[in-house]
Amino acid sequence: MYRTHTCGELRMDSQGITVTLAGWVQRKRELGGMTFVDLRDRYGITQLVGNENSTPEVKESLRKIGREFVIQASGTVRERSSKNPNLPTGDVEIELLTLNVLSPSEVPPFTIEDESDGGDDIRMKYRYLDLRRAPVRNNLILRADMAHAIRSFLKEHKFIETETPVLMKSTPEGARDFVVPSRMNPGQFYALPQSPQLFKQLLMVAGFDRYYQIVKCFRDEDLRADRQPEFTQVDCEMSYVEQEDVLKLFEAMTKHLFLSVKGLTLSDFPRMTYREAAESYGSDKPDIRFDMKLTDLTATVKGYGFKVFDEAEYVGGICASGAAEYTRKQLDELTEWVKRPQIGAKGLVYIKYNADGTLKSSVDKFYSEEALRNIAALMRAEPGALMLILSGAKKHTLEALGTLRIEMGNRLGLRDKTTFKPLWVIDFPLLEWDDETQRFYAMHHPFTAPKPEDVPLLDTAPGDVRANAYDLVINGVEIGGGSVRIFQSALQSKMFSLLGFTPEAAEAQFGFLLSAFRYGAPPHAGIALGFDRLVSMFAGLDSIRDVIAFPKNNAGRDVMNDAPSSISDGQLKELNIAVTIE
Ligand code: ASP
Repeated sequence: MYRTHTCGELRMDSQGITVTLAGWVQRKRELGGMTFVDLRDRYGITQLVGNENSTPEVKESLRKIGREFVIQASGTVRERSSKNPNLPTGDVEIELLTLNVLSPSEVPPFTIEDESDGGDDIRMKYRYLDLRRAPVRNNLILRADMAHAIRSFLKEHKFIETETPVLMKSTPEGARDFVVPSRMNPGQFYALPQSPQLFKQLLMVAGFDRYYQIVKCFRDEDLRADRQPEFTQVDCEMSYVEQEDVLKLFEAMTKHLFLSVKGLTLSDFPRMTYREAAESYGSDKPDIRFDMKLTDLTATVKGYGFKVFDEAEYVGGICASGAAEYTRKQLDELTEWVKRPQIGAKGLVYIKYNADGTLKSSVDKFYSEEALRNIAALMRAEPGALMLILSGAKKHTLEALGTLRIEMGNRLGLRDKTTFKPLWVIDFPLLEWDDETQRFYAMHHPFTAPKPEDVPLLDTAPGDVRANAYDLVINGVEIGGGSVRIFQSALQSKMFSLLGFTPEAAEAQFGFLLSAFRYGAPPHAGIALGFDRLVSMFAGLDSIRDVIAFPKNNAGRDVMNDAPSSISDGQLKELNIAVTIE
């Protein structure tokens, strides 16, 4: 038997008993004639102690061992003379009787403690060492607990967990596919799933009624803090349901998770149309932890001789309470910030509503005090507020204001990570026009159903058709999305043609779905939640990397095992792939 107890288990009530522990040496300290060792395993840290009375073997082993050695130690549990209130085991220590080195260690490249001295890159290269650190491991334990809670909730609601293929045919979710060459079918490729969308719909045709899977998906996109080339979705589909049923069930699941994992009771999730989200928050994933809504000022500010506003399609502003004290320097810096290419505003107009009730703006030349007061009234500004105004093309300006709103929320400390404000964003447009390619794209995906009352518009004004599509948004993060599906082959064919597929191309790519729909497809709808994002939100992190055991870096590389890597000419030949890299 390697151990009688773990390193997180012993307390005062075990005083006097003899125990055996095994684990890693986190630290060794020598003090007078005594040697103290912090022994660590997944469960905690227990202090071992050797002294003048220890056996020569123990003394010799104590001399030999260093950080991260794996050892097995036995001894007597006794009360510590100086207790450590920060450790659950901090009242006791083990007086060593024997000490075996099970596995030596080289000096680790960074300190393996809650606070490490290792930078990001080195910790990623030695991820297995980083995972020994409690904060990193705790994120993964949280992940496991959440997966477990989801599985039990969905099982209780009669969902059947079903695996779908990883080697499959491309599903258009709007991103680039990762592809895998087929040796047995020269010149042909599988695609890795961007999502199991088509399979889950086929499972509904197959009568499964309720499907789910906690599943890896792959999208070859540019990476950001909340994106990885492979990520995990909680993917679900249900038959004989309407949008309302899906929202209810997944709202219940989300509440269940918050309650069972975080002990938080959430109130009902508000619903907001896509349009309202865009116009009031400048975003389709509004952070509703704070107010600071956008105000449309277009009609109010025109006609004062200020050309920038007079010529703008849209003028809008946000009102940041308590920011009137912003200095010239801060305002200049904010102006530079909105001018960055990522936001692309031409400039920033401000109006300060000073605490003494006076108004001061960057456009005093054009606007009288009264005119400024009108704007302030429209924005419901109070003394002490700073109004920030942007103008330009409507869509772009709304987005820029939305980004500025989030920035001001951060600067003013309004985005508290321990508060959670979920909402449903609904009524997304079905289609999105792309100027560059001069065609419509499906905003969600091509299997999403239009709102029944908007179906006639498909022929006359396709850009105005709203979809029965919904997103779950929490604290400004899109946690999931889904839709009611088209289940009639005629409507599905029409959708493909709107998206620019010829009937032949649609048949070639989705023939199996269209044919399945000819054999009795039930009405169905579904959703997929981004599991990594959900876990990182629960963990209070900004990046999903720390909730993934072996993540990739921003260049899509696994720096630990150095993937991707080249393969041998022999392999390439076998796969019928000729590569010329210039
Ligand atoms: N397949 C969609 C996605 O991955 C989700 C859904 O429509 O259920 O975003």
